[in-house]
Amino acid sequence: MSSSHVLVLNCGSSSLKFAIIDVQSGSEVLSGLAECLAEQQPLIKYKYDGTKQTITLNHGDAHQVAIAQLVELVKKLGLDKHLIAIGHRVVHGGEHFTHSVLITKGVLNAIKQTSTLAPLHNPANLLGIEAAQAAFSSLPQVAVFDTAFHQTMPPQAFLYALPYSLYKEHGIRRYGFHGTSHYYVSTQAHKVLALDQQNSRIVSAHLGNGCSVAAIKNGQSVDTSMGLTPLEGLVMGTRSGDIDPGIFTFLVNQLKYSPTQIDLLLNKQSGLQGISELSNDCRTIEEAAANGHEQAQLALDIFCYRLAKQIAAFAVPLGGLDALIFTGGIGENSNTIRAKVVSGLSFLGLQLDDDKNLAARFGQQGVITTSSKPCAIVIPTNEELVIATDSAAIAQEL
Ligand code: ADP
Repeated sequence: MSSSHVLVLNCGSSSLKFAIIDVQSGSEVLSGLAECLAEQQPLIKYKYDGTKQTITLNHGDAHQVAIAQLVELVKKLGLDKHLIAIGHRVVHGGEHFTHSVLITKGVLNAIKQTSTLAPLHNPANLLGIEAAQAAFSSLPQVAVFDTAFHQTMPPQAFLYALPYSLYKEHGIRRYGFHGTSHYYVSTQAHKVLALDQQNSRIVSAHLGNGCSVAAIKNGQSVDTSMGLTPLEGLVMGTRSGDIDPGIFTFLVNQLKYSPTQIDLLLNKQSGLQGISELSNDCRTIEEAAANGHEQAQLALDIFCYRLAKQIAAFAVPLGGLDALIFTGGIGENSNTIRAKVVSGLSFLGLQLDDDKNLAARFGQQGVITTSSKPCAIVIPTNEELVIATDSAAIAQEL
């Protein structure tokens, strides 16, 4: 076994996703998820050497217990000897971070300061970093930011039409998220489609529980649909995406909602879940719609309409379109949603190939249109590989 392994940690508020990636081969040596960290019975589920296992976690500070248990597992499997770095997914890097960085005291402080912009995510990411630093004190730790790829957006794309002082004094602007995924799939698209890196126009649609699109010109993000927070833009599993901000005032004045209730409504009770009143899960919605559930069908219609509209809008900053990428759980698997979206974009020159669309599922990559330029293509994302590769590169420079 070579010493080219990176432990990738994605520490959320109620879960910890982890993987050990061999950066030489790009393969996943270990992968798993500690979940229900905020609940009574937290678990770690992991996959190693082709088999799946579950560990029940003890009570206590759930994040620390989960990381301690993960460290024990990594040592028991003898994988610690091959680690060269630990890579952490950090949700918000604000304007401080335009690329991945070695975590120093200064970097930790900057991530802490940015917590005001991501009060749910960054503190959880910090817990992961601090626990990993304590457990693997001799290994370099690297932060990879979800926002970094979008730092190339010009002011006309990232500023809101609000008083400028809110941006200057409080950092209220659009940052965008899913940057690691948009970066990975657009880099892959350049390779697979042999696009000219100096002259390419890509729209990347990351469609998972959270959904966002990015306009990528010559390999750089020039606009994206998420904003200050991941709430802006597309319809998502439980998030509303764009709404009239006047609804906020209506909810407060007429319906007496508190800020916490509004936050819950827009982040957890809206989107596919809110419209269908059935589920946030795309598979369930598709199945129900096929069986005649009207609100499930409505949820799909709104999801696809808004997505197609946003993709078409990004032809403006790009000045046209060479490739549309679908990725994320929905983008990689739902041939139904892809067909609906591509049919709404035929005026851009996209024509679906039904057989190719059906074939590109469950991890299969491929072009799904009859033409190659412009084309729509399915590319499975691999954020863990980007985090591992960046971390290894930074560790090797030390
Ligand atoms: P996350 O954003 O949490 O990483 P994923 O990228 O795994 O989420 O995407 C989850 C979404 O993908 C869910 O809505 C799920 O229903 C959807 N999905 C997964 N497989 C399919 C499928 N075969 N058909 C339609 N949707 C699917």
